[in-house]
Amino acid sequence: MGRLLTFDALGKRNIPVASNECSFCGEVEETVEHVLVSCGLAQSMWSVLAQWCKMPSIFLFSFHDVLELHKFSMFEKEKAILLHAVCLIAVWCLWKRRNALVHRGIPTQVSDWRRFKL
Ligand SMILES: [Zn+2]
Repeated sequence: MGRLLTFDALGKRNIPVASNECSFCGEVEETVEHVLVSCGLAQSMWSVLAQWCKMPSIFLFSFHDVLELHKFSMFEKEKAILLHAVCLIAVWCLWKRRNALVHRGIPTQVSDWRRFKL
């Protein structure tokens, strides 16, 4: 909905930023789609989440896919609802990690996701 204040969203609001590159990888413009879906760090998180939920690999192409994942999970209704909640929490955690890096300089490593052993 354009409410998440990524660097590209700040730029569209004419708020100056030092750089509009992804906070995690620095390779492309920081957009919601990139930070939460296609960035390597995000993809590693989704991979760990899939393992944790005992699902096959997750292929996400947009943030909309994150919001719809539970509908195509093949889980029964109660588990699908839980999967949706887990996905929302994962998004929140990833955004908090992004903010920790941007505002406090605390980096996140791919290995951080592995702490959630099954
Ligand atoms: Zn990135």
